[in-house]
Amino acid sequence: MPGYSGFRILTEGLRGNSGWKPAWRKAAPKPSYDVIVVGGGGHGLATAFYLASEHGITNVAVLERGLIGQGNTGRNTTIVRSNYMLPENNNFYEHSLKLWEGLEQSLNYNVMMSQRGVINLFHNEAQKNAALRRGNSMRLNGIDAEILDRDGVKAMCPIVDVDNGRYPVMGGLLQRRGGTARHDAVAWGFAHAADARGVDIVEHCEVTGMIIEGGAIQGVRTTRGEIRAPKVGLAVAGSTSTLTAMAGFDVPIETHLLQAFVSEGLKPLIDCVVTFGAGHFYVSQSDKGGLVFGGGLDGYPSYGQRGTLPTAEHVYSAGVSMIPALGRLRGLRSWAGVMDMTPDGSPYICKTPVQGLYMTAGWCYGGFKATPGSGWCHAWTIAKDAPHRLNAAHTLDRFREGRMLDERGNGPFFWAQ
Ligand SMILES: Cc1cc2nc3c(=O)[nH]c(=O)nc-3n(C[C@H](O)[C@H](O)[C@H](O)COP(=O)(O)OP(=O)(O)OC[C@H]3O[C@@H](n4cnc5c(N)ncnc54)[C@H](O)[C@@H]3O)c2cc1C
Repeated sequence: MPGYSGFRILTEGLRGNSGWKPAWRKAAPKPSYDVIVVGGGGHGLATAFYLASEHGITNVAVLERGLIGQGNTGRNTTIVRSNYMLPENNNFYEHSLKLWEGLEQSLNYNVMMSQRGVINLFHNEAQKNAALRRGNSMRLNGIDAEILDRDGVKAMCPIVDVDNGRYPVMGGLLQRRGGTARHDAVAWGFAHAADARGVDIVEHCEVTGMIIEGGAIQGVRTTRGEIRAPKVGLAVAGSTSTLTAMAGFDVPIETHLLQAFVSEGLKPLIDCVVTFGAGHFYVSQSDKGGLVFGGGLDGYPSYGQRGTLPTAEHVYSAGVSMIPALGRLRGLRSWAGVMDMTPDGSPYICKTPVQGLYMTAGWCYGGFKATPGSGWCHAWTIAKDAPHRLNAAHTLDRFREGRMLDERGNGPFFWAQ
């Protein structure tokens, strides 16, 4: 498949754009593969891409029950960053951010990566100390972090009400290399690049059962028949516990809703990503001009891809506290995704109790930024039947062994992460 380039855009323009082909084939499933990846979101497609590009395993199928990228990958607020505190997490997310930095070249696809900076505001001494601690932990691991004072925040994002009567802004933790990427282009880019290496992307193919013999996976049952493979990787986000139940084991995951909102289009107003420290609210501006914002979880388990009004109300009121001018803005759309929440807020990229069955899951509300890193580590784990050092701590048994990765210190409450 010919690649995309400025030269091709020019030549196609001259011949009436008649030479473009679909970005990936509509593959029909074969009876067997070397590896099956379940879930055609960013994580599943990235897993397939890195299996092919890093490990030379190309006899791979990605099975997606609907259309690729229509799960959380196409529903998120697109923030990319690596400003985590625990070394197990910040090293993993930094690896992912470095992959993002070269992703467009690796995929030959424009994912509209925009490193516009991410600021987390703090409003009191305790929050300032926490931000300093997190920033120091990042810097100790070679990751960029800066502390902005109140004037620094005002200079970078003038629309924020730093003199807020109730929640005065003291400053913010800034990661300049953080930013946003275009969510659906990420799914399409990984699909395009995996397909170009021979991977079959099979849409409208729902996995309905697992074929397990002698404790080892042999394949899956689907709405398009049985498909055999000695290795299967799960990348199904909020549906993880449903799929592992098919394989006969439980996982510490609860499925909760997270909502996103988009406003009417505006002229350029906010050219970074900024997160409120005194309520659940964060915002960036899309290239189309709409403000893209979100907040915290809807606090009860659900598979509905719609959110609840109390959470919407909280998000809007927190937004107006941070930027009073938003009060004059019209909301355009809102929707929700189904999040795979873990008790400690950290993910799993690991082997499972069934031999040959692997998973990348538990991404909570932060898995978009992890997409390349998750696919890279999941592919490594599948190819070598062992974790890479970057995901060695992200196992299912960490709760049994008392080595939780409790990034936010919330304790064992799925909904509080
Ligand atoms: C509102 C919202 C805002 C967010 N904001 C951010 C953010 O700013 N930054 C960030 O880093 N993260 C964010 N996230 C989280 C992020 O979107 C997810 O963690 C990430 O996209 C998960 O990717 P995925 O590929 O694992 O899941 P998905 O994209 O959901 O893909 C899973 C796929 O599996 C398929 N599937 C499920 N069951 C089956 C089956 N039985 N057979 C076949 N296919 C199946 C589904 O159809 C789906 O397409 C946000 C999420 C939401 C909902």
